[in-house]
Amino acid sequence: MSSNTASLEEFAARKLSGLERRHLRRRLVQSDNRPRMVIHRDGRELVNFCSNDYLGMAHDPAVIAASQAAAERYGAGSGASRLVTGGHPLLFELEQRLAAFKDTEDCIIFGSGYLANLAITPALAGPGDLILVDELAHACLHSGAKLSGAEVIVFRHNDLADLEDRLATARAGARHAMILTDGVFSMDGDLAPVPGLIDLADRFDAWLLVDDAHGLGVIAQGRGTAHAFSPPARASLQMGTLSKSLGSYGGYLCASRNVCELLRTRARPLVFTTALPPAAIAAALTALELVETSPERCERPVELARRFVRQCGLPEPASPIVPVIIGDEAEALAASQSLLSSGFLVTAIRPPTVPRGTARLRITFSATHQDSDVDALARAVAPMLQALEAVS
Ligand SMILES: *Cc1c(COP(=O)(O)O)cnc(C)c1O
Repeated sequence: MSSNTASLEEFAARKLSGLERRHLRRRLVQSDNRPRMVIHRDGRELVNFCSNDYLGMAHDPAVIAASQAAAERYGAGSGASRLVTGGHPLLFELEQRLAAFKDTEDCIIFGSGYLANLAITPALAGPGDLILVDELAHACLHSGAKLSGAEVIVFRHNDLADLEDRLATARAGARHAMILTDGVFSMDGDLAPVPGLIDLADRFDAWLLVDDAHGLGVIAQGRGTAHAFSPPARASLQMGTLSKSLGSYGGYLCASRNVCELLRTRARPLVFTTALPPAAIAAALTALELVETSPERCERPVELARRFVRQCGLPEPASPIVPVIIGDEAEALAASQSLLSSGFLVTAIRPPTVPRGTARLRITFSATHQDSDVDALARAVAPMLQALEAVS
C-alpha cells in the first residue's frame, strides 16, 4: 500500500470506529418499495412508516405509465445541462404548471431539492450580506447559506421575537438580507409562522425563502404551507421538491420572472449539472395533475396522522410527520428495532439530522396506508410512550 493510501485508510477506519462507539454510524440497507407502503427488507415484508412518498405517487399506475412513455419516446437520460441540450419541453411545461399552481410568475426546476437550495441562496447573496436561518431548517438550507459566503446567523426555532432581535442588531450592517426556513419542518412536522416571517421580512427588507418540501401535496388540500394561513402567506421565494409527495425526483423554485431568470444564468447547480431525465419530469407532471384534481387524497396523510396520535395521546399533528422524541441515540435505535420486529419500518433519526439529545422515531403517514396498519402501529407505539413517561 502506498503511504498516502495507508494514511487515508487509517483516517477512515479511526473515524468509523468513533462513530460506531457513539451510535452515530449509519448503514445503507437494501430497500425494495412496493405499492401501498409495503417495503421488502432483509427478506421480510414490512409496512413503511418513514417514507416521504406521502401520496403513494411513486407507485401510482398513471404516474408510472407517464414515466414509461417518456422514457420510451425521449430516452433514459437527458444527455446534457439545460443550458446546452438538456432543456426538454416537458421541463418547461412542468415549470409553467408549478408556477400556476403556486401562483407565481415563474418557476425553475433543479436536479433535486438539495441542489435547489445549494443554488438559490448563493445566487442571491454573498459576502457583505446577511442570512438568518431557523436552527431546525433542513441541512441543505444551512449548506446553501454557508456556501454563499454571507454572514450566517441561526435563530431559535420558529421564534419571531429572536429573529426580530437579530435583524434589529445585524440588518443595518449588511447590504442584502435573507431569511431561510422550512415550511413544514422535516423532522418535527410543525409549520413555520409564515405570516409573521413575511411581516419581519417586509419590515427589515429581508428576502424570505420557504422550503416547502413537506408541504406540497399534503398541507391545505395539497396546495402547500402558504395556504395553511388565511389569507395565504406566500414568500417571495417558494422552494420545494418533486421527490416527496410527487413521487418522482427533482427540486423547484417558484418566484418572480426576474429572480428565476437570474438563477438560470447564475445558479451553479443548474448550469453545471445534467438536466433531469424525461421520465422523472413526466412522472412529476402527472403527479402534480393528480394533486390538483384529488384534494381528498391530499388530505388523507394528515387524517391518518390524527387517527394515530388520538390513539397514542400525542399532540395534534400539523402535517403527516409525527415525531416520537426519545433522546438517547441507542434507545432510539432500540425502539426502531422493536417496531421492526412487529413488522413496521420506522427508522431512528439521530444527530446530526436532529439536535443532540433529541434522537427520535419520525413516523410519516401516506395516503396509501390502510387504516388497520395505522391502528396496529398505534398499538405498538403506545406502550413505548408509556415507558418513556414512566422514566421522565
Ligand atoms: C428532503 C428535503 C430536501 C431535499 O429534497 P430532495 O429533493 O430530496 O433533494 C430539502 N428540504 C427539505 C426540508 C427536505 O425535507
